[in-house]
Amino acid sequence: MTDTPMIRMASVEKHFGDLHVLRNINLEVAPGQVVVVLGPSGSGKSTLCRTINRLEPIDSGTIEIDGKVLPEEGKALAALRADVGMVFQSFNLFAHKTILENVTLAPIKVRKMNKAEAEAKGMALLERVGIADQRDKYPAQLSGGQQQRVAIARALAMNPKVMLFDEPTSALDPEMVNEVLDVMTTLAKEGMTMLVVTHEMGFARRAADRVVFMANGEIVEDAPPDEFFTNPKSARAKDFLGKIL
Ligand code: ADP
Ligand code: MG
Repeated sequence: MTDTPMIRMASVEKHFGDLHVLRNINLEVAPGQVVVVLGPSGSGKSTLCRTINRLEPIDSGTIEIDGKVLPEEGKALAALRADVGMVFQSFNLFAHKTILENVTLAPIKVRKMNKAEAEAKGMALLERVGIADQRDKYPAQLSGGQQQRVAIARALAMNPKVMLFDEPTSALDPEMVNEVLDVMTTLAKEGMTMLVVTHEMGFARRAADRVVFMANGEIVEDAPPDEFFTNPKSARAKDFLGKIL
């Protein structure tokens, strides 16, 4: 089947205690699509990302990756989780591993790849994000932008079907934002399926097929970027855009 969505969320509900953080989320992302998620702080964007690879359990509804329902736990979940790469605001690299080790660790442990193969692949990925010359350094010796590019390479090393990005440039000094966005833009052009939470409106306009706008745990709008930015329909989106543009 060619029309199986890469990500499919249906009627997803999630509470933290009394707080209703995801309300009837219905979202499909086709293979190769890039969806940018926008919304005010606290609207549920990070929680949405975290449910997609089951870092957070959901209360009800279903989430499928490439047509497979996310199981609750166990080996099947580990395999499905490996299909979903995630890059966070804080780079979360292993501080006591070299850059190359950061990229080869999971393929060796989880994918059971042999070391030489993992290193060859790791080096190719470090080349791709422009950082191969840093292979023997430790994360703290790299700039924030470089660390985030390593984090992207590390996620790609697992051959994910989907890449989730949760505000990947928010913790970076301004002069380093573009080097990370450039890597993401290239990835998007190469056909990776991506869900990207970001406040970088330039990236959204340039790279997104769709913008999903969340407020108060709900998807309020889902439209192509041109349409969303020029003609937002809801008062909440108009208000949000008025504050950031
Ligand atoms: P966003 O990423 O859009 O800023 P989040 O998904 O981080 O929003 O948070 C949505 C709401 O859920 C917020 O009110 C936040 O305080 C709350 N929240 C997030 N994580 C937890 C948690 N682990 N326990 C309790 N409340 C949480
Ligand atoms: Mg967040």
